[in-house]
Amino acid sequence: MRSSSVVVLARVPSYDRQAVGRAVRRSLELLGVDGRGRSSAGASLALRPLLAPGASANGAPAAPGTGPVLLKPNLLAAVPPEEGVTTHPVVFAETARALRERGYDLAYGDSPGFGHRLGPAARRCGLAAEADRLGIPLADFEQGADVHWPKGVVHRQFHVARSVLGARALVNLPKLKTHGLTTVTGALKNTFGVIPGFRKAEYHVTHPDLEGFSRMLADLNGLVRSGLVVMDAICAMEGNGPRGGTLVPLGLLIVSDDAVAVDAVACRIMGIDADRVPVLRMAEEAGIGCASGGRIEIRGDPIEGFAGRRFALPPVHIARKMPGFLFRAAKGLMVPKPSIVVSRCRRCGECVKACPVRPKALSQEPGAVPRYEFGRCIRCFCCQESCPHGAVEILPAPLAGLFDRG
Ligand code: SF4
Ligand code: SF4
Repeated sequence: MRSSSVVVLARVPSYDRQAVGRAVRRSLELLGVDGRGRSSAGASLALRPLLAPGASANGAPAAPGTGPVLLKPNLLAAVPPEEGVTTHPVVFAETARALRERGYDLAYGDSPGFGHRLGPAARRCGLAAEADRLGIPLADFEQGADVHWPKGVVHRQFHVARSVLGARALVNLPKLKTHGLTTVTGALKNTFGVIPGFRKAEYHVTHPDLEGFSRMLADLNGLVRSGLVVMDAICAMEGNGPRGGTLVPLGLLIVSDDAVAVDAVACRIMGIDADRVPVLRMAEEAGIGCASGGRIEIRGDPIEGFAGRRFALPPVHIARKMPGFLFRAAKGLMVPKPSIVVSRCRRCGECVKACPVRPKALSQEPGAVPRYEFGRCIRCFCCQESCPHGAVEILPAPLAGLFDRG
C-alpha cells in the first residue's frame, strides 16, 4: 500500500525529438530514477518487478521475469502517428533511449484492437522504424498463459501474453484519450493490452457493466504492475475517442512509477470528475497506487498550466453503477448506445468483426451499412473503438439528461 506518489509534469509543445528526449530525461531525474534503476526518492519507486507477489501459474508461484524490460505503447490500430490514436514514435524512442542509457535491455509490444496484428500496426504507427534503429525486438503478444491472481476481486485468472510474463518490468507508454466505455483511457486501461487480442473479448462479455469492467482492470493492474509510466499527452484526444475523437494539443508528458496517480492527474487536467472513472477508486482501495490529490506530489511544471480546459467527453453511463441484472433491464433508457453515421460509413465491416458477443449484436448485408440488434448489445463500444472512419458515435441515453451533470 502506497502512502504517497510522485507525478512529474513536463511541458513539451511538439514531438520535436530533442525536446521530447530532454523532457523524458529531466522527468526521470525528477522522479528519482538513478543509474541502477533504484529511486533516490523512495525505495518503492522505479521499475519494480512486473508480476505482483502471490501470482501463480500451473499451481506454482509464478517466477519473476528475467527477460528484457517491456515497453508497452498504446497500439490500438494500424494508423499513422498524425492521427493521434497511438503512442507517438518519438515518445517511444526517447523513453527507450533514456532507459538504455540506464542499462536496461528492452523489448516492445502490445495487443492491438480487434482485427489488427501487432507487426503491421507497429510499422504503420511508426514504432517499428524507431525500434529497428535502436535494435529493440518486437515481443510476441499472440501466445498467452493463464496466471492465477488470488487477490482479484472479480477476476482471479488472467490470460496474459507470455512475453509480458517473461519481462522483468513493464514500462507503460499510454496515450491520453477519452474512451466510450471507461471515459478516459490512460495508464490503467493501457494495461489491458497485455491480454492477447483474441482473448480480450471474453473480458468485455464477462464484465459488461462499467463497475465490473473497472474492477477487472483494477484486478489486472494489481497483478501486472507498471514499473514506470510515460504518458503521451503532447497530443491528446477528446470527444469520440479512443479512435474517432478530436485532437487536443496539450503539450504534456506525464511521468510516474504509479499508473493510478498518472491517470488521476490526467483526469484533473481533463476536467473529469473521478466518479466517472471508477477504476481510480478501486485501484487506490486495492493499494495499487494513489488517486487522491492529497497523496500525489506533483513535480516539474505546475498543473495549473495544463488544467482549466474541460475535455469533451462521451455520454455518461448512468446505469453502469448498477448490478448486472439491473443494468441489462435499464440499459435501453439509461445507457448510451452506439450509432453509425451513415454518411461516414465505408461499409468495411470492421465494427462487425470487433463485436464480442455471440451471436453478434451487429450484422451486415454485403455492401450495406451494418445494423444493430440492441437486445444483444452489451454497450462495450468495441465497434466504436474499431471503426477506422470515425463513423460510430455514442448517443446519449434517453434519460441521461435527468442525471448527467457533466
Ligand atoms: S461503421 Fe465504421 S467499421 Fe462499421 S462498416 Fe462503417 S466504416 Fe466500417
Ligand atoms: S454492437 Fe458494439 S457496443 Fe454492442 S456489443 Fe457489439 S461491439 Fe459492443
